[in-house]
Amino acid sequence: MSEQAATYECPNCGAALTFNAAEQLFTCDFCLSKFTRQQVLSANSEAKLREEEAAEAQFNAQMNEYECKHCGAHVIADTNTVASTCAYCHNPVVLVGRLSGEMKPKKIIPFGYDKAAAKEIFFQFVKKKWFVPKAFFVKEQVEKIAGVYYPFWVTDVNTDSQIKAHGTHIRKWRSGNREYTEVSHYEIYRRGKIHFEDLTTAALSDADKKMLEGILPYPSAALKEFSMPYLSGYTAKKRDIERDDIKAELKGRIDRYSERILRATIMPYSTLDVYGRNSRVLNSHWDYSLLPVWVLTYRDEKKGKTYVYTMNGHTGKVHGELPVSRWKLALFAGAVATVLTGLFTLIGGLFLQ
Ligand SMILES: [Zn+2]
Ligand SMILES: [Zn+2]
Repeated sequence: MSEQAATYECPNCGAALTFNAAEQLFTCDFCLSKFTRQQVLSANSEAKLREEEAAEAQFNAQMNEYECKHCGAHVIADTNTVASTCAYCHNPVVLVGRLSGEMKPKKIIPFGYDKAAAKEIFFQFVKKKWFVPKAFFVKEQVEKIAGVYYPFWVTDVNTDSQIKAHGTHIRKWRSGNREYTEVSHYEIYRRGKIHFEDLTTAALSDADKKMLEGILPYPSAALKEFSMPYLSGYTAKKRDIERDDIKAELKGRIDRYSERILRATIMPYSTLDVYGRNSRVLNSHWDYSLLPVWVLTYRDEKKGKTYVYTMNGHTGKVHGELPVSRWKLALFAGAVATVLTGLFTLIGGLFLQ
């Protein structure tokens, strides 16, 4: 068998290693570490790999995978929980079979609100939104609210970051009929080791990501070691984005955060221009995690649009793009017009007296 580096994890940060033939070293393009073959083998010991494979196999044996033929959603559920309808489009889902691949989560935030509580919060939310069509919150519709665990990568990162900047202080004064301007130039350099804790990235495609943004964050203190009973009665969305696919995006976020943190240590200048930045990942730790979401979708057939209401299953934070009832809005406009007419009459009446 040829030396397949892709199956080896970086001992430093858990990203996949690639073998650099020229240097005869294994390199990690996330944390830029280099390892000899011996170092990689001892970190990815045969026993450890086999243990992880066994844990994966055991998890997969207890999980079924379902597919919605209508919208293409893939969900997983433990074998004691039967998924019958799709949480997104409410059509029947079909059983694909036992789960395969490396899908076992390391961490989980369990649901903190049950279905009754989630429905109550939804009613509270929608009650104040008088323009929402009634069909959105009739009992049978709200009954479709579903508890779904969403897949996330939760990452801790240590960096060595630096920025270079050019700053000026500008002083102006007047003496007699002359104006003087003094410009002082400063070269500024900041460097520091920064620890980022629990950077959360959805392991899903962009549409899902957008939907989740409104209900973030999840407090990392609520993360628990994964165990099967937490899944009981719930489905989990199957991830469609791998760790290696989000590395570049995550690095971009780390670079931006690092720059902001280092920038904040610079005293105010008249002008400041950051012209150099560099952030090196020293090491990182990745936990594949499931986080709880209550989802309620509403399909407006006339407009051909699906509205999605989501609630953070731990904090209760809600987010929803809501349908607007045209006639309710029209009624409101009518009411405003009436009140205005009333006011004019009143004012007119006062003037006439
Ligand atoms: Zn690495
Ligand atoms: Zn569906």
